[in-house]
Amino acid sequence: MIKSRIQIVEGDITQMSVDGIVNAANSRLAGGGGVDGAIHQAAGVEQLQQACRQYDGCPTGQVRSTPAFNLPAQRVLHTVGPVWQGGQAGEAELLRSCYQSTLELAVQEQLKSLAFPAISCGVYGYPHEEAARIAITTVAEWLKTSPSPDKIIFVLFSQPMVDIYRRIFREVAEK
Ligand code: ADP
Repeated sequence: MIKSRIQIVEGDITQMSVDGIVNAANSRLAGGGGVDGAIHQAAGVEQLQQACRQYDGCPTGQVRSTPAFNLPAQRVLHTVGPVWQGGQAGEAELLRSCYQSTLELAVQEQLKSLAFPAISCGVYGYPHEEAARIAITTVAEWLKTSPSPDKIIFVLFSQPMVDIYRRIFREVAEK
């Protein structure tokens, strides 16, 4: 049941025709490199930057939403992942909070399908395996008690990352 609501794919999140895509943003919501840059480019840099300016940035672990402009998605949920500092600075709790608060906002906005990138796994340096475990366990726990969102897609930028997510997903699903 939960299994069928989670999908793990390799791809470019900007091309996903889902209700909401999640951006791994920075705390100024100013746009940047990586997936953030790709989302800004594809949505329309000017429009997305302007929409982000309604907020006074976003603290780590929280989320803010905007329209998706030229993207096939309807909304962009900008969440700010923690920078990896060795693991003793509350990184795990903050990363969990990114997924949790994004799911809460998606429900508020009645988004039925939601695509996540691997938050903090690029320049923010979070160890991939640990980040994937947090992503999958937090989402799986959520889906156990909530009928919404109906579908969660993890959209990963490389096959090795897909392999990590699939392996951890199997472990979690078997429990
Ligand atoms: P962070 O600053 O949170 O680490 P990054 O954008 O540097 O964010 O990287 C997060 C993850 O997003 C990395 O695994 C990176 O390979 C991936 N990524 C980059 N571009 C895209 C894209 N267009 N679609 C999906 N994932 C992407």
